Amino acid sequence: MNLSEIRDLIPQGHKRFWSKVAVKGADDCWEWQSSRFDNGYGKYWMNGKIVKAHRFAFFLFNDLRFVRNVLHKCDNPCCVNPLHLFEGSLSDNTQDMIAKGRNRVFVGSQNGNSKLSEVEVAEIRRWIEIGMTDREISQHFDLKVQHVNKIRHRRIR
Ligand SMILES: [Zn+2]
Repeated sequence: MNLSEIRDLIPQGHKRFWSKVAVKGADDCWEWQSSRFDNGYGKYWMNGKIVKAHRFAFFLFNDLRFVRNVLHKCDNPCCVNPLHLFEGSLSDNTQDMIAKGRNRVFVGSQNGNSKLSEVEVAEIRRWIEIGMTDREISQHFDLKVQHVNKIRHRRIR
């Protein structure tokens, strides 16, 4: 891939994020140019919250799929090249909870039979934390915007 092909892959929008990245070739590390955590991970401020830059890059390149653990193939913590990032496994605790089916709860009784798992609600909360809008989240999870808004304001669990 040449540089312009790589740039074409970068999701539209989020210009502020990419302005802080030294985008290079596909095989190179794309190092975060702004401030870093003590452990070397890039630090990105978004809507008043701090997110890890490599996690956010992974998120942008994977259909806005939020995963807890994003790991580096290159062992370079400040790298946000999506080709160098991969998803770590869910924590044992979360897998255990899913396996035992303890995570199903009813939420939003006024929305009829809508039903989300605790894991899904926790995931929606993480999306909220990194600054996604209610509309973006509702489209991804196929929920009503008002429903996401209730989760945001913790009116439903
Ligand atoms: Zn790298």
